Amino acid sequence: MKQKKPFDKCPVCGGELQEKDVEKLLKGGDNTAMINVRAEVCLHCGERLYSQETVKCFEEIRRKLEIKDVVNFQLIGQSYRVTHECELAHECELAHE
Ligand SMILES: [Zn+2]
Repeated sequence: MKQKKPFDKCPVCGGELQEKDVEKLLKGGDNTAMINVRAEVCLHCGERLYSQETVKCFEEIRRKLEIKDVVNFQLIGQSYRVTHECELAHECELAHE
């Protein structure tokens, strides 16, 4: 059954939305996870809109990351925080695949 769309047009710019598979980076505590989800993507400004179910799923994953309940997650790499005195970058976070 086709889900009812939460938006017909982009709420930011009023542009046309197209359903796409996108990668979303989620953070919880010191951990990050990548998830592939369906999103409505604005063809004009690139704004991504997620369904309520997807947002709930994000929250669940973030919660699991915070409490390190990650047994069902596949480890694909490590996340690093690089902090150094540098005129270009004060602090940058790298999600390494
Ligand atoms: Zn837009």
